[in-house]
Amino acid sequence: MKQLKLFAPNDLRIVEAEKPEPGKGEALVRVKACAICTLEQRLFRGSMRIYYPIVPGHEAAGEVVEVGPGSITDLKPGEKVALDLIYRCGECYWCRVGQSNHCAFRFSKDVQTLGGFSEYIVVKTKQCFKVSGSVPFEIAALSEPLSCCVHSLRAINIELGEDLLVVGAGTMGLIHVLLAKTMGTRVFVVDPIKSRLDKAVALGADFPITFNPEEMKNEVLKHTDGRGVDAAIITAPTEEAFRNAAKVVRKGGRLAVYSAYSEEFDIPVNANYLHRSEISVVGVEGRSEKDFLIATKILSNGLIDLSPLVSSVFGPEQATAAIEKAGKPESYRVVLDFSK
Ligand SMILES: [Zn+2]
Ligand SMILES: [Zn+2]
Repeated sequence: MKQLKLFAPNDLRIVEAEKPEPGKGEALVRVKACAICTLEQRLFRGSMRIYYPIVPGHEAAGEVVEVGPGSITDLKPGEKVALDLIYRCGECYWCRVGQSNHCAFRFSKDVQTLGGFSEYIVVKTKQCFKVSGSVPFEIAALSEPLSCCVHSLRAINIELGEDLLVVGAGTMGLIHVLLAKTMGTRVFVVDPIKSRLDKAVALGADFPITFNPEEMKNEVLKHTDGRGVDAAIITAPTEEAFRNAAKVVRKGGRLAVYSAYSEEFDIPVNANYLHRSEISVVGVEGRSEKDFLIATKILSNGLIDLSPLVSSVFGPEQATAAIEKAGKPESYRVVLDFSK
């Protein structure tokens, strides 16, 4: 079977590998689509390392081919599944308290992690989440980014009728917009690129704002009776994004840091301001099994349409070009199609 292996930064090659066999508690899945996330881009460029060689890919969907003998599961061959490819041990403190996105062993050497850039993959049956047959594979593959947005909206307890500010209108910002609109909220979106704001509006955003601190403040205050938004989510990793978002969250509101910052920086918030305003600042990262389940239900039940976020589909032999394309500001998700 074909597999894409990253041997070193910028060295991604197609290799022939032996088709794995599922053991007890495992399933063999024929991968049909795997999207390219920023994690894969960082691994490719070498700005993030797990271990080498590694088969990247953690936004994958496919079809169950075989369930290992003796497995206790209701998974059946032929079923469409989205795969949760970040390892979770199930035994560490975080796994046991329901925060398996912080599993102590998730990127340990010798654990099978990622691996979606492959024709076939063996996973634990618990890593398979069923998706309705009506959802195309390239959309089912987006269950993973969707689950991360489910995680962040659940973390800041969005309520009916609230106002949400989404900073950044890239893929993750726009998934937040789509989800938040199904939750009965008004959504402000801020981004420096006009075409991205247009896309946000096409997907349901109520107030597009050009990234300009003055305009952002004026627009938000104008539409919220001078209070500010109930909650804000930062999906763009810049200091200004944080600084400006913090200024337009209402007293007692919530601010989520969703984006991974490529450089360390201290949060520029005055302690007295936090004290007096009672704003909660929360970090959000990854997703739990429950978030993943919710995401696959949302897609299966047709509650949101993620197809406008698939920019292009490439074959595995064009993976390097696909990763480069995925890093362009005008791209949303670029998907590798392993079905042929
Ligand atoms: Zn991802
Ligand atoms: Zn764990």
